[in-house]
Parts: sequence; structure tokens; C-alpha cells
Amino acid sequence: MALIGKIAIVSGATRGIGKAIAKKLLANGANVAICGRNEELLKDLQTENTLAFKADVSNPTDCQAFVDAVIQKWGKIDILVNNAGITRDNLLLRMTDEEWNSVLNINLTGAFNLCRAAIRPMLKQRSGKIVNISSVIGIVGNTGQTNYAASKAGLIGFSKALAKETASRGILVNIVAPGYIDTDMTQQLSDKHKEMIASQIPLGRTGTVEDVANTVYFLVSDMNKYITGQIINVDGGLVM
Ligand code: NAP
Repeated sequence: MALIGKIAIVSGATRGIGKAIAKKLLANGANVAICGRNEELLKDLQTENTLAFKADVSNPTDCQAFVDAVIQKWGKIDILVNNAGITRDNLLLRMTDEEWNSVLNINLTGAFNLCRAAIRPMLKQRSGKIVNISSVIGIVGNTGQTNYAASKAGLIGFSKALAKETASRGILVNIVAPGYIDTDMTQQLSDKHKEMIASQIPLGRTGTVEDVANTVYFLVSDMNKYITGQIINVDGGLVM
């Protein structure tokens, strides 16, 4: 229960990795504010220690309203996890403006929107932990994912710049880069493609949402007092 008294925000927490992160933080005593676009899923996740808020991270007004609601309810923000993300895969030759813009707007601008809204209270209290969920694709690239790779590589640069900008105020900013994790996002791949990816992972299996949640938990807990601006790959050794 290392997070008793801590207030956390996790974006895109109605499903998959975000939901697992929110559960992990809650299980360790934090109060957790979550957002997503699906109202039904959000309603199911509302508990005594949860604030479930409908917000599209690509919309700056939604992000400000979400952060304002957290401050109104709990008075501070200790932890921000920018997890919301999508894929819209296509070869560059065929990629539409909508496919490019939606991925950049949600995966990269979404993190900017929430960080900008949440940074003032963190600066005031002179402490805070931010974890941005990137991807190994942002490091090594992937065919059919120029939009996704650009958004995730952008998130890495953004996080390192923010880590430098806020370190003197006691704010630690890190990046978690998952490899292949079993969620709705990866269900779209064919079984053959999944088998091919699994065969390339040195640890011999695909990742679970808990593998990612455990790493985020470490980074946002008091166990981490001296790691900032770093990328932690959670990928079974796929990229090293
Ligand atoms: P997922 O199962 O598809 O879940 C995505 C979550 O993001 C959902 O809760 C979704 O909620 C939310 N979301 C999407 N667009 C949003 C928006 N505009 N505003 C607010 N919430 C939004 O995906 P996942 O696999 O858990 O991925 C989570 C993060 O990990 C993403 O950033 C992804 O890029 C990254 N990642 C995943 C893998 C993997 O193998 N799965 C690997 C590397 C990195 P609503 O639909 O309700 O909006």
C-alpha cells in the first residue's frame, strides 16, 4: 500500500493497459482518476476511490475540465500516467490525413494536453511523477505504422524535454515502452503474425497488461526517487 494518500490520473483506462495500471495504483492505496471516451465502460469502473471522467485526450478543453475535476475532488495531483493511445495502420502511400492526424492528436498531443493541464499543481507542490506510455515502435519503427511510430517517438522527445524542464521542482518524468502486450489493440493481428512476433521475443512470450502496470507502479512509487527522463522497455527483451 505504498500509494496511500496519493492522487493519480490515468488516461485511457477503460480497457487494456490503462485499466491494469489504474487497478494496480488503486490496489496500492491511491485515489485514481481515469478517463476514456466510452461512458458505459467508465460507469462500470466508478468506485469510492475512483473518479471516472469522460474526456477525449485530443481535446484540450476536455483535459482541462478533467484536471479541474480532480483538483476539486482531491485538491492535488501526485501522479499522471498518459496511456491513451490508438493505432490506424496503413502504408504511407495510402495513409489518409485522418489516419495521420487522429494518431498524432491522441497519442502525442493528448499527452501534451494533459501534462499542460496537470503541471501547474505539480509545480506548486514541488513534486510529481509523470509516466508516458510510448512503444518500442517509437524506437525501432514498423512497416505500416509511420503515424504511430512518429507519435510514440515524439512522446519520447517530449518526455525527456519535460523531465529536464521540471526536475528542479522535484517532478520526475519517465517513459514506458511496451513491446507486444495482449490487449484489444493487438487483437487485430492475425494468429500467424502474433506467432511470428512471439517467436522473436527472447523471453519467449508476449507481455501482459500486469507486466506494464508493475513497471509503472515502481516508477510512480516512492521506490523511485532518482530515475527521470528514462525509457524503460517492457518487451521481454525484444528491443535491446
Ligand atoms: P486498448 O486496449 O485499445 O485501450 C486503449 C485505451 O485508450 C482505451 O481505454 C480507450 O478508451 C483509450 N482511448 C483511446 N483514445 C482515447 C482518447 N482520444 N481519449 C481518451 N481515451 C482514449 O490499447 P492498449 O493496448 O491498452 O494500449 C494502451 C497504450 O499502450 C497505448 O498508448 C498504446 O499505444 C500503448 N502500447 C500498447 C502496446 C500493445 O501491445 N498493446 C504496445 C506498445 C504500446 P475509449 O475507447 O473509451 O476512449
